[in-house]
Amino acid sequence: MRRPLVAGNWKMNGSKEASSALLKGILAGADAAVSDIAVCPPAILIPLAAEKLAGSKVAWGGQNLNANESGAFTGEISGGMLKDYGCTYVLVGHSERRTLYGEDDALVAQKFGVAQQAGLMPILCIGEILQERESGNTEAVVARQLDAVLDTHGIGAFENSVIAYEPVWAIGTGKTATPEQAQDVHRFIREKLAALSDGIASDLRILYGGSMNGGNANELISQDDIDGGLIGGASLKADEFLKICNAAA
Ligand code: PEP
Repeated sequence: MRRPLVAGNWKMNGSKEASSALLKGILAGADAAVSDIAVCPPAILIPLAAEKLAGSKVAWGGQNLNANESGAFTGEISGGMLKDYGCTYVLVGHSERRTLYGEDDALVAQKFGVAQQAGLMPILCIGEILQERESGNTEAVVARQLDAVLDTHGIGAFENSVIAYEPVWAIGTGKTATPEQAQDVHRFIREKLAALSDGIASDLRILYGGSMNGGNANELISQDDIDGGLIGGASLKADEFLKICNAAA
């Protein structure tokens, strides 16, 4: 039985004050929530999250990490540093990293491995752009993104990871994939991994991300292969975020 996970990606939003209030709001409903919960604030707010969330049900994580352990990489943050501040998770290969910062499949695969070496659980983000969906290439794109990690680290690496299927055309657009569209891709992902290891595939949590909110979460998360959500915009409002955490039954 896979326990649902709802993870908030705050992106580059927040301040000390606003984030403290948001965390307080999330903590107020966290114990009653049916899902596991995590938040991924901007790196500079991770110490604040660590302080406020310590000992609670809510885990925290990073939005990115460098592919190296340490060294002359000005402005970057390593997996070890995230771990040092109590992070459980780190997002790897978010579509904004891929598109805006040129992260290709090979770099994403490298980051996936470095995250695990640092003791973090990578949340591997994969998904197609609109043009790829419209040209019938969704499965090919998702397969290519998975293969980059499989070829480098093997199926065993997925034992200690989470996948987030995020159709890029649905991220921050208010345009959600239908539950059927999302389920089809989630099933494809699980079946692809099951061909290599049934056990790993059936235990793996595959989250949906892309304009999920309190209103559409139930229908999405009730699909067989959708095990929670990676939430951007709606994770910045405690009430809305908690509604999603309660949809994950
Ligand atoms: C995301 O940033 O991963 C995301 C899913 O954003 P939103 O929920 O705002 O679409």
